Amino acid sequence: MSNYDVIVVGAGNGGLAAAAVTTKAGLKTLLLEKHNLPGGCATSFRRGRFEFEPSLHELCGVGTKEKPDNIYKLFDSVGAEVDWRYEDTMYRTIVRGENGYDATLKAYREPFYDSIEAVVPGCREKVKTFIELNDKCDAALDYVAKKNGNPNPIVMVLKHADFMRCASHSTEEVLNALEMPEKAKNILTTYWGYLGVPTDELNCLHFLSMLTSYMDNGAAMPHLRSHELSLSLCDVIIKNGGEIRYNSEVTEFLFNDDGTVAGVIANGEKLYAKEVISNVIADNVFARSDAKKIPERDVKLANARTFGMSVATIYLGLDATPEELGIKDYTVFVANDGNARAQDDNRLDYGFYIVNCLNKVIPDASPEGTCQMFFTMPLYGSDIPKDIKPEDYKKYKNDLAEKYIRDYEQLMGINIMEHIEEISIATPVTFARYLGSPEGTIYGYRTSGWDNVIMRNQSQVKDNGIKNLRFCGGHGIMGDGYSSAYTTGAEAGHRVVNKLKGGK
Ligand SMILES: Cc1cc2nc3c(=O)[nH]c(=O)nc-3n(C[C@H](O)[C@H](O)[C@H](O)COP(=O)(O)OP(=O)(O)OC[C@H]3O[C@@H](n4cnc5c(N)ncnc54)[C@H](O)[C@@H]3O)c2cc1C
Repeated sequence: MSNYDVIVVGAGNGGLAAAAVTTKAGLKTLLLEKHNLPGGCATSFRRGRFEFEPSLHELCGVGTKEKPDNIYKLFDSVGAEVDWRYEDTMYRTIVRGENGYDATLKAYREPFYDSIEAVVPGCREKVKTFIELNDKCDAALDYVAKKNGNPNPIVMVLKHADFMRCASHSTEEVLNALEMPEKAKNILTTYWGYLGVPTDELNCLHFLSMLTSYMDNGAAMPHLRSHELSLSLCDVIIKNGGEIRYNSEVTEFLFNDDGTVAGVIANGEKLYAKEVISNVIADNVFARSDAKKIPERDVKLANARTFGMSVATIYLGLDATPEELGIKDYTVFVANDGNARAQDDNRLDYGFYIVNCLNKVIPDASPEGTCQMFFTMPLYGSDIPKDIKPEDYKKYKNDLAEKYIRDYEQLMGINIMEHIEEISIATPVTFARYLGSPEGTIYGYRTSGWDNVIMRNQSQVKDNGIKNLRFCGGHGIMGDGYSSAYTTGAEAGHRVVNKLKGGK
């Protein structure tokens, strides 16, 4: 029988951040990962001479050494070293059709306003008002935090009126209230796919905080891609005396008679700890637990939630440089309609896809004379045809890849097909198998309606119904994405440290 202060289940971004914090604080920590390498989504795989980035387009909330933001500070605080690279173009967005556009949006506020004004003359002030709402909401949230979540309602109304006006509204509602021109609205909401929820359903503060985070810091990327992030956190964990066990799937969560979590079983071994942090989504934890031990409220909460979006991806190793191929951009969003809801509704018919060429940010991301491209198509697990037979799955994937590659070739007037040296295609099935997530969700639970991030934050204490068990990751209170997963992981780690060692 082994005893630990903390067992962390899953070495995705959330689990790695949690274990880095607990080991750094001197807690005896065991990190269990079902695969033979860390990272979950933040990993790498090889085909031929190419090492592919499986997930990271760009990371928000990083900042620089001189002006560090949350993620920079988080890595720095645990002693994890990362060689960050930055991109000063946020995105290029191409919408076809009569009311279409081709806009390239620059990072940092003034260049961003300039670039949207160039496409929609006269929208600058409205866009500025929208973006600055984020600063007002940040000030309101700072005040709420200072008051330990019990702000004076009169101060909220008098000093933070804009926060009160928009906090419970969707992005679309706020943009409509500002009378944002349709085209500017569509260009502004391009990033909805990064949160997997169309903006008529997506909380405005959630969307704004992501958008401004990319805008204010520039999109960041580690030189050796997401694998560098995962390995840097593993280094911290090991250096600080933590233990990482790979090939160790947790098959059961163990409970004491009083309903508190006691530990887990991995590879048939019972492992005990004072605290367990799960980077694994609650549905899967409950499926690996004695049903009688899960409070009714927690079961109801999990059942009431909707799983978030998944994606299909095409990873391409090309035998020519971006310059030879005529590829000019790092991130291009392509759609048939500028409206986020229409893009989601038409996702099976070229509704919306994203194309990245990693070498535009990291020139040596592939061997000399080559480049790697990465297509991402938002898709739900339920979009996979129900009647597909195993023997037809390969054809399904190949058809999907051909459809999107051909479309992009035609749109951009470039030749990709003839230059494919390596190709790998993933669908929600791939993500369900690799991550173990229900329906292949890469975004945890859909951050929508009553389950938006504001509501999650407000009710987090009540939601934590199982004693000695905490959750972190893209399915956590901050929603999906690298930075949210790291932040919730670090927060879970700090809460455990405070509980076991005392502190604030
Ligand atoms: C194609 C793609 C593109 C993306 N692009 C971006 C982007 O550009 N920017 C961004 O911010 N986000 C992006 N995301 C989303 C982001 O990757 C995720 O939100 C985030 O990485 C989720 O982190 P997580 O901590 O929840 O862990 P996950 O990555 O879900 O990892 C969970 C870990 O737990 C392990 N595990 C599962 N079950 C068990 C078990 N029973 N026992 C032990 N281990 C277990 C898994 O093997 C895995 O390692 C993208 C995701 C994908 C797939």
